[in-house]
Amino acid sequence: MSETVERHEFGAEVGRLLDLVVHALYSDREIFLRELVANAADAIDRRRFEALTDPALTMPADGSIRIVPDKAARTITLSDPGIGMTKAELAQNLGTIARSGTRAFTQSLAGAKPEDRPSLIGQFGVGFYSAFMVADRVEVTSRRAGSDEAWTWSSEGAGSYTLAPAERAEPGTTIVLHVKPDAEEFLEPIRLQTIIRKWADHITVPITVAVDGK
Ligand code: ADP
Ligand code: MG
Repeated sequence: MSETVERHEFGAEVGRLLDLVVHALYSDREIFLRELVANAADAIDRRRFEALTDPALTMPADGSIRIVPDKAARTITLSDPGIGMTKAELAQNLGTIARSGTRAFTQSLAGAKPEDRPSLIGQFGVGFYSAFMVADRVEVTSRRAGSDEAWTWSSEGAGSYTLAPAERAEPGTTIVLHVKPDAEEFLEPIRLQTIIRKWADHITVPITVAVDGK
């Protein structure tokens, strides 16, 4: 590991949420894509909003959410040209649970019978950590709009994450999911397209799923 890589511990609540999300929601794990696409769409909305008062942040006209499954590498890569995150925002937003909604979700889910869980998932977004339902390693490379710096947040979802300097040609966020052996179905473009049609129909930003890497 290079000297510039910093290791940080997750807060205790993150550990509990990760454990719940990964183990309790197994049969509903396709919603990881809904959560990541929703975050990408939120980030694009935020960039559009900030660009109203700071034209330097204006998004490229062809901005879209791009999803690239790669069977050989066993990865799914999601990119968005949204607002992006600074190093501090990566640590804050992905390393701690600041949101009351997530806390309420954790408490409700912990006390729920298995048959009641799907409706709970509908009520609360399960958020970014749902990526760990299908991935045993998640890498998030982000560059905040208005900044030249990019950072990569990386975690195996067990106790800690790392932050390291990175490169990203344009502002936005790229998430690489290293797909678990039992989640290979999600490397099929058709499977991803079906999930998007089911859960992300209301998203107004164009979403493309690459077939054969293109
Ligand atoms: P929520 O979307 O309910 O806030 P999440 O767990 O889904 O919770 O995401 C946590 C936070 O991480 C978001 O609020 C946002 O600040 C940040 N984030 C996640 N994905 C992205 C992204 N693609 N671009 C920018 N910020 C993101
Ligand atoms: Mg979210």
